[in-house]
Amino acid sequence: MTGSLTIVGLGPGTAEWMTPAAQAALDAASDLVGYGPYLDRVPEQEGRTKHASDNRVEIERATHALRLAAEGRKVAVVSGGDPGVFAMAAAVFEALEAGEPGWRAISIAVEPGITAMLAAAAKAGAPLGGDFCAISLSDNLKPWEVVTARLEAALAADFVICLYNPISKARPWQLGAALELAAGHREGRTPVLFARAVGRPDENLRVLALSEAITAAGTADMATLVMIGASGTRLIARGKERPYVYTPRSVTKSPWATSQGRT
Ligand code: SAH
Repeated sequence: MTGSLTIVGLGPGTAEWMTPAAQAALDAASDLVGYGPYLDRVPEQEGRTKHASDNRVEIERATHALRLAAEGRKVAVVSGGDPGVFAMAAAVFEALEAGEPGWRAISIAVEPGITAMLAAAAKAGAPLGGDFCAISLSDNLKPWEVVTARLEAALAADFVICLYNPISKARPWQLGAALELAAGHREGRTPVLFARAVGRPDENLRVLALSEAITAAGTADMATLVMIGASGTRLIARGKERPYVYTPRSVTKSPWATSQGRT
């Protein structure tokens, strides 16, 4: 008998930011597969087995989950935030594509979750009110030249840019380099958000100017989402409280107005 596999988004931290559908998928599972710290966020339940794995072995983890489902188990693969954003859903489909033909009979579903950039944006104000994009700064799975080419293009296009995986022990300089690139396109006072552990007890949000953010790059870590404002992104001061960050929905000053605008 072929079982099922659901890739479940746990949201950024707090259980309140997990959808009821994701919760139902966890409740219905016979087996939970995932990175240890994510599995720790799911309470023990009678008759449900947890299969913890290391962070760097996504494809093995996905293959293991598909094997369990092929044996007839009801498997939930857990992922932080949204499982489709730089996360396990793509790893499962990669393993499915390369794996045994019989696995394609498994019923596979993806339960979305609140991704880090949306959680961070909600806490900061409304920085994603205009056009934006998301880039993973990790060069583990793609060459650094691809990262910089995409960054340059996004900066030139004046998107708000959300940077996932900004820094790690093995990748200590990439965030500083990315912010330096940004300074080539944006003013030094452009708001930059460092949103750390959003939705968790150790949550910490900082709003810096781009010029300060370059010096502060080393204070970000793997639990931080970095958001670089567009030219229209601005702050609303509120005394000693952290200012609101927002990007108006309308673009009034276009950098392309004279050179590329329609006549
Ligand atoms: N699937 C996840 C992202 C995985 S990539 C999601 O949708 O959120 C891992 C990166 O996500 C981290 O390096 C960090 O940049 C970001 N991230 C994940 N959870 C976060 C949180 N609670 N607060 C801030 N950033 C977070």
